[in-house]
Amino acid sequence: MAKNNFVVDYKTMTAGRHEMNFHLDGGFFAQFAESEFQNGKIDVDVTADISEYALKFGFDIRGTVEVECDRCLGLFNLPIEGYFELNVKFGDQTSDPAEADDEIVLSYDETKLDLSHHIYEYIVLSVPARRVHPNGIDGLPTCDPDMSATLEVLEAHDNVLETDPRWDQLRNYEF
Ligand SMILES: [Zn+2]
Repeated sequence: MAKNNFVVDYKTMTAGRHEMNFHLDGGFFAQFAESEFQNGKIDVDVTADISEYALKFGFDIRGTVEVECDRCLGLFNLPIEGYFELNVKFGDQTSDPAEADDEIVLSYDETKLDLSHHIYEYIVLSVPARRVHPNGIDGLPTCDPDMSATLEVLEAHDNVLETDPRWDQLRNYEF
């Protein structure tokens, strides 16, 4: 999706509520070099309340992003959803867009606002810190069984290495 699709040309828009819908996929994340996500399918419904004095945006985010499972390291599509608001005021100087998630200042000289970076930030905020495969209908995790087994073996191995060395000495005694 072309980047200019996300640019709101608010000076030319009529006052009142406007609605925009974006369907994002991996191409959206490709615009952001820092993105830890490469794939996803996300719908973003945006409302824009435009007046001469301020702009107010609402972002309704729902979809899936492809993430690595914390448990088995396999990739899977994690459902996400979130709602965020962005308040825009006008002032003498445009604020640093990296500083605030919910309120920014645009200089009186500006005429357009690019929403893409804001939408990217809201998607990142919608992804939970813990990412594991969901449980299947049998109640068991749908993790990659080979990988889970490998990780368990590695974990067990680490635990052995972490044990008190005095136990190792005891273990060497023949009883
Ligand atoms: Zn997993």
